[in-house]
Amino acid sequence: MTQQRREGPIRSVAIIGGGTAGWMTAAAISKSFGREIQVHLVESEEIGTIGVGEATVPHISLFNRLLQIDEGEFVRQTQGTFKLGIQFNDWSKIGDSYVHGFGTIGRDLGLMPFHQYWLKARAMGKAADISRYSLNTLAAPQGKFMVSPSDAPKNTPLAEIAYAYHFDAGLYAQFLRRRAEAQGVVRTEGKVIAVKQNGESGFVESVTLESGADIAADLFIDCSGFRALLIEETLHAGYEDWTHWLPCDRALAVPCAKVGPPTPYTRSTARTAGWQWRIPLQHRTGNGHVYSSAFMTETQAADILMANLDGPALGDPRPVRFTTGRRRKIWDKNVIAIGLASGFIEPLESTAIFLIQTGINRLMGLFPQNSFQPILQDTYNAQMQFEYERIRDFIILHYRATRRDDSEFWNYVRTMAIPDSLQAYIDLFSANGQFFRQGEELFGLTSWVQVMLGQGIMPRTYHPAVDWVRNEDMLNLVGHVEKVIAANVGLMPRHEDFIARHCAAPPV
Ligand SMILES: Cc1cc2nc3c(=O)[nH]c(=O)nc-3n(C[C@H](O)[C@H](O)[C@H](O)COP(=O)(O)OP(=O)(O)OC[C@H]3O[C@@H](n4cnc5c(N)ncnc54)[C@H](O)[C@@H]3O)c2cc1C
Repeated sequence: MTQQRREGPIRSVAIIGGGTAGWMTAAAISKSFGREIQVHLVESEEIGTIGVGEATVPHISLFNRLLQIDEGEFVRQTQGTFKLGIQFNDWSKIGDSYVHGFGTIGRDLGLMPFHQYWLKARAMGKAADISRYSLNTLAAPQGKFMVSPSDAPKNTPLAEIAYAYHFDAGLYAQFLRRRAEAQGVVRTEGKVIAVKQNGESGFVESVTLESGADIAADLFIDCSGFRALLIEETLHAGYEDWTHWLPCDRALAVPCAKVGPPTPYTRSTARTAGWQWRIPLQHRTGNGHVYSSAFMTETQAADILMANLDGPALGDPRPVRFTTGRRRKIWDKNVIAIGLASGFIEPLESTAIFLIQTGINRLMGLFPQNSFQPILQDTYNAQMQFEYERIRDFIILHYRATRRDDSEFWNYVRTMAIPDSLQAYIDLFSANGQFFRQGEELFGLTSWVQVMLGQGIMPRTYHPAVDWVRNEDMLNLVGHVEKVIAANVGLMPRHEDFIARHCAAPPV
């Protein structure tokens, strides 16, 4: 028999873990609920945080707005830089390069998205590379960046520049901690060594620290990272392993000295059994090699990483192990996992911090009473499953749609079976360039189109409605967009100059 819980509102929340997930959650809950709810965060300096996670997607600005974070202050305090997208080198084949940029491609006409007109113009031999029709993909490789000026004329590309940030993960957690503590969050240093559950319901009642202290709460948020202390070690929520689709399961991370101006994009270079990231910050450059241990040893991976740094390494490569997949129940009983405890999709498209943010948003929307009505948990879990699976498919696309055949790893991913949901997206796009976003999935048309084309999937034809526009008008549109984008990029300052003027971090 399940014991009845006290009716009424949740009065106390305990967050276990003080990495990016823990502090984002603490800052958001304390901001939203004020001191109505007592928020306690436990973290262990001895265990530490994962210390990576430095590139983001544009949605983070919504989170910052919720917390009323001033952008300049945020970038300065985290040694941040701006990100217009990700440059993918050697992914489709060795020597190829494309940018997955945020924002839009061209200008839509009637009901048809711009790329449909581009497909026809290209078939006629009258279109340039797709990257020339989007502000982000043209500006990024040129090192240009600016935030949309408030007086930019409406409907021009400069009026709606989409961007995200790169930042120092450690400084970001400290930044959020200061805010959360100022909003009333109580932090306790210490290691959780035991978890007390209700004998009948299995709900978590308290955690015990090494010091002997007990921390009780109505709701527990598991932000303990890959350890998943409450959701897995205590509640055994289960894990769906996606390694057969995303075989990378290791990373080596190392910062290096900055040798030039920071690029306004993340760089991802495909390697023999994985890929290498480069994330430019104001004070240093973050690097990492994500690889599959089934196809490469750690020594080989380290050699590749260290041979491909822009500047001198600032330490030894730090190994991280992971299993791509998702927790079967991200919310179980009175425990909700946020961050790495909830699952992990390898960092190719910088989606993990977004998943933290979306987990927090959903928690706010479905915030329970102390009776924990099961429908809230079921809705949360179904929505998070959808979110995870749509991102998963997008990441698999980068591996599956490749022409690389230069290693066992690429031969495996190029020929592996993929989820039906992804196959349907690829088939539809291959037929006539169509894409339909499902529900609120993270990546929309611009992303899927750019990555499909960038990875070498060229639709066989275009939508028939394109032929309803006279060729002359259609070519004028395509040519006009190219000129407008080039002219607008010409007006943008260099990324480093923009930072120097608006948000230069103190020297370290
Ligand atoms: C190789 C790699 C690259 C990544 N790159 C990106 C990226 O570019 N962009 C992005 O969005 N995301 C990225 N991520 C993901 C990102 O790093 C994480 O989502 C983010 O840092 C959140 O981690 P976390 O807070 O869940 O876990 P952690 O940082 O591991 O924090 C766990 C916390 O729990 C505490 N803890 C654990 N056990 C106990 C215990 N027993 N008692 C007390 N405290 C405990 C720890 O001390 C720590 O404070 C990357 C991840 C990896 C592995």
